[in-house]
Amino acid sequence: MELNRRQEIILDIVKREGPITGEHIAERLNLTRATLRPDMAILTMAGLVEARPRVGYYVSNKPRGRLEMEHLHRVRVGDIKSVPVAVMENCSVYDAVVTIFIEDVGTLFVVREGGILEGVVSRKDFLKVGLGGQDMHKLPVGVIMTRMPNVVMVEPEESVWQAAQKIITHAVDALPVVRPAGGEDGHADYEVIGRLSKTNITRLFVELGGRG
Ligand code: ADP
Repeated sequence: MELNRRQEIILDIVKREGPITGEHIAERLNLTRATLRPDMAILTMAGLVEARPRVGYYVSNKPRGRLEMEHLHRVRVGDIKSVPVAVMENCSVYDAVVTIFIEDVGTLFVVREGGILEGVVSRKDFLKVGLGGQDMHKLPVGVIMTRMPNVVMVEPEESVWQAAQKIITHAVDALPVVRPAGGEDGHADYEVIGRLSKTNITRLFVELGGRG
């Protein structure tokens, strides 16, 4: 995580003078407390600075590794998710493969009206069609997809760590990020609002490593 110039200066003040109140930091910089609030939030979220009520800010003395781990638990799926790429169930395998190339993703979510999740289709499913010699133009993705309720999903409030655990446990590359959308006849509906893939997690990993 890159700090901006002002955040670097604040970190330096806290290092030299901490514990120091937000009011005192603001005075040193000739700024209002309100202006500083987003910077203080970033520094505390990054685990570089800790805050205690009536004491003020001080530099965290927790070992680096532990901070990074805490960060992984603190970051929510909603913070790092990507835009979902979805097709309808009657989309042909041919068009789905074209979509995979155009959108540069490995997994497509299959939805019905309202973005309600019906299934997931990914590269291995397409390779199977290739091996079977079926007509890609005629075959709809609905026939080859992994269908609900067998889709492993994640909600935006879950931690990235929980999502990574699901990815490993179920040996999949991506999870649809969903929110409950009612349902009937005893089965729940979920609206797809994002995509969390191994790439999102790797990007976060690289960002955390770059902080050292
Ligand atoms: P790839 O096919 O690109 O190797 P995966 O390893 O994610 O990607 O997919 C393997 C199988 O798991 C495919 O049959 C796919 O339909 C299914 N799959 C992919 N994502 C999910 C998911 N989130 N939940 C359940 N099944 C999934």
